[in-house]
Amino acid sequence: MNARGLARWAAWLAAAAALTAVMAAVRGDLEKVHVALAYLLLVLAASARETRALGLAVAVAAFLGFNFFFLPPYETFGLADRRDWLVLFTFLAVAAVATQLLHRARHGAAEVERLSVEAKRAAALGEADRLKDALIASVSHDLRTPLTTIKALAHDIRSDGDERAVTIEEEADRLNRFVADLLDLSRLAGGALAVAPEINAAEDLVGAALQRASGALGGRGVAVSLDPAEPLLLGRFDFVHALRVLVNLLENAHKYSPPGTAVEVAARRVGDGLELAVADRGPGVPPAERERIFEPFYRPAGSSPDVGGAGLGLSIARRLAEAQGGTLRYEAREGGGSRFVLRVPAADVAELDAGGAAVPTRESL
Ligand code: ADP
Repeated sequence: MNARGLARWAAWLAAAAALTAVMAAVRGDLEKVHVALAYLLLVLAASARETRALGLAVAVAAFLGFNFFFLPPYETFGLADRRDWLVLFTFLAVAAVATQLLHRARHGAAEVERLSVEAKRAAALGEADRLKDALIASVSHDLRTPLTTIKALAHDIRSDGDERAVTIEEEADRLNRFVADLLDLSRLAGGALAVAPEINAAEDLVGAALQRASGALGGRGVAVSLDPAEPLLLGRFDFVHALRVLVNLLENAHKYSPPGTAVEVAARRVGDGLELAVADRGPGVPPAERERIFEPFYRPAGSSPDVGGAGLGLSIARRLAEAQGGTLRYEAREGGGSRFVLRVPAADVAELDAGGAAVPTRESL
């Protein structure tokens, strides 16, 4: 307890002593009930203003004072009339219960106040978030038209033989991708992106992702491993969105790992999930940043501005995974490097039968 706490205890116990002294001076004119009520008032005042412990302490002090000074024989703790024990203990019980009730009422009020402050803060944050999303949506929409014009003009200039136009076109493309990502992020945040999970084969998805990422991979080989224990790996996911996640992971693996090191894609069933993992032998991600890399615009301090984009890829990927009931997580790789795992709900061949769809075979996929 600090000095201030001690002073309050001392003040209330002194008040109990003062009340006792005043009542003792006029003891002849008082009945038991007057003494009990006066003490009770003091206990209630202490409990209402101070802590429960202090309220109880004042109750015990009053109990002792009552017994010692006001119940015969006076100035002893003994009692001549045994019925006075009943009076005393009733007094103590009432004082203790009142203290407890007051404490609970105050606690409840504090809780309500805390909740209301939190609710207000959440509402303010929600409003700020909505504003930010609306701003992003409108700015990115308005940027698209001038970008298209710039690109078209650069194209014209290039056909006139000015090679600098290539850079303009490339930069316009980069901005365009950034704007598209921003738009998607705001749609995902607002729950406005359509998601259509269906039963698909992992092999299909991996094949399509490799094809889509082949340009970015620049001829780098990717080792694919599909769980040999499962003849047909099926999952329930939105093909287009899952494809985008996987392509993004492949591009990152390529961007952030040294040329010549292996990039691997693996698919396997784990429990009731289908897991698609993209692994590389790059530097990995330090423990402190393993969650932050999934936040929008987060790029680790010191990362090169020339590699990668604005730090939107992984946040979009994770939201896309979650929008279809899946997850996207990072795992440190034994022997160095990163592994990003997209997990979606697994599906069984029997579910395909039940749906009346044709059962795909490895050959037909
Ligand atoms: P960007 O690539 O545009 O910076 P991302 O959201 O895709 O944005 O990635 C965020 C950050 O996570 C990257 O800047 C990079 O530091 C880190 N990161 C992503 N993938 C990998 C990887 N395969 N290996 C190491 N670091 C990675």
